Amino acid sequence: MSKCVRCGNCCRVAPCAYSDLDHNSTVCRHLKIVVEADDFTLYRCALYNEGRISPEMASELSIGVGCEVEFNEDRQRIAYSSCQQVNWNAL
Ligand code: SF4
Ligand code: SF4
Repeated sequence: MSKCVRCGNCCRVAPCAYSDLDHNSTVCRHLKIVVEADDFTLYRCALYNEGRISPEMASELSIGVGCEVEFNEDRQRIAYSSCQQVNWNAL
């Protein structure tokens, strides 16, 4: 599996069983923006971040599903953007 760069694509492509979708959107309410810059946006799952998903449940999340989607431009943009300077441990 590719390294997670928090592009959020997996949750948009295939929301997991714990997702909460708005009627007018396919974007999960738990998917939160943590960094927004001109050339990239980074996300995290609020459920996971708040510890509301156990390690056993985490294996059922969508994390990793979108990495291998062909032409995942969000992931590629992050890989080549200024986010290399982000303190990942602080997110
Ligand atoms: S698609 Fe991959 S890189 Fe993007 S958030 Fe999901 S696991 Fe991370
Ligand atoms: S991993 Fe979190 S943000 Fe992503 S679809 Fe599941 S509940 Fe939503």
